[in-house]
Amino acid sequence: MSDMLPRVVLLPKRARPFYGRHPWVFAGAVGAVEGDPADGAEVDLVTNTGVFVARGLFNGQSKIRVRLLSWDADTRLDEEFFRKKILSAIGLRDRLGLNGPGKGCRLVFSEGDGLSGLTVDHYDRWLVVQFTSLGLAQRRDRIVGILEEAIRPEGVYLRTEKGIGQLEGLPLVDGPLSGGPPPGRIIIEEHGLKVLIDLAEGQKTGYYLDQRDNRQEVARLSGGRRVLDAFCYSGGFGLHAARAGASEVIGVDGSAPALALAQENAKLNELENITFHKADVFDDLEQRVGRGEKFGVVVLDPPKFARSRNAVGDALKGYNRLQTMALRLLEPDGILATCCCSGLITQDMLEEQLANVAALTHRDVQMLQRRGPSMDHPVAVGCLETHYLKCLLARVV
Ligand code: SAH
Repeated sequence: MSDMLPRVVLLPKRARPFYGRHPWVFAGAVGAVEGDPADGAEVDLVTNTGVFVARGLFNGQSKIRVRLLSWDADTRLDEEFFRKKILSAIGLRDRLGLNGPGKGCRLVFSEGDGLSGLTVDHYDRWLVVQFTSLGLAQRRDRIVGILEEAIRPEGVYLRTEKGIGQLEGLPLVDGPLSGGPPPGRIIIEEHGLKVLIDLAEGQKTGYYLDQRDNRQEVARLSGGRRVLDAFCYSGGFGLHAARAGASEVIGVDGSAPALALAQENAKLNELENITFHKADVFDDLEQRVGRGEKFGVVVLDPPKFARSRNAVGDALKGYNRLQTMALRLLEPDGILATCCCSGLITQDMLEEQLANVAALTHRDVQMLQRRGPSMDHPVAVGCLETHYLKCLLARVV
């Protein structure tokens, strides 16, 4: 069957990552393309001697020439294939108890679920779908059909990542794919807290589901403490801390719509020990350090600082500044939660950085937990880029 498909032939000695089940075949690894595949077409990846390695979807417009989806020469990438993959992903969330009305979870996590280019979030009775590959976007109707059959949602909404149109040659526009326009606000419950989601206008697909369990863990350490939630978005960490009995919580973010949502969340949960401030976090922390303010808990959850390898150095400087100011703000026996969602910055780099900051600020820092994303964001062992979120919990003596 395999010989019927167009073939992408690897350069000599370039097959190893793909035998290791890494799904991205970059243009630089490709020696030749045989059979003139259209963009989005099914192709076989073969070694320079013609041995089958894997099967995937081609895109001549993307730096990722092929996204690999199957390592089995007898499996075609047809509707049945996608149904099986999607149902397997949903099965995991069911087993974790995260999937269902009133809840919020990531139903399909792209490479983490072996479906490079597809992200699906489930908020109460709504699905938000994101395509980051042309091949899967072309199969949109079939994929949405499978999701509808499995979940029977009230509606499905399409969100697109900034810049992806250009990277993949993808002409996508945000909007409802079925079920009409979604309600302005959807409510989900997260570890007992009610959270409002604006799935059409909110950041990303509306909410940062990957931090679900980290929020709960930080809240557990926040009782009776004054908490600073830097980069708070719709209130995430701070709201959980406020609910867990923090004496006072301050959330800081630069986005007015995010803070409006955060305010509504506080009201919905009848929390009065939390306030929000619109500011640049770097300036805000500096001013608080200058005023000699002290906190029992500081959360740093900045956006992705490093988007390319060249940006890693500057990104580390950014984390350094934030952590230095956080340590200055923490009272003795304080708790620091420092998060990083740049895939290019590794756990080791983040820890080394924290050690430097601890030494420079003359503080003893004890690492309590090295945490990652919640389990609805599984990490594919063959594609460690899926382990993008790190969250270090430390005690600052
Ligand atoms: N902690 C949040 C998620 C944070 S996402 C949660 O638990 O849901 C990162 C946030 O940083 C976004 O809300 C964005 O608006 C904000 N942001 C980015 N750069 C900023 C800056 N320099 N100052 C203040 N906020 C910033």
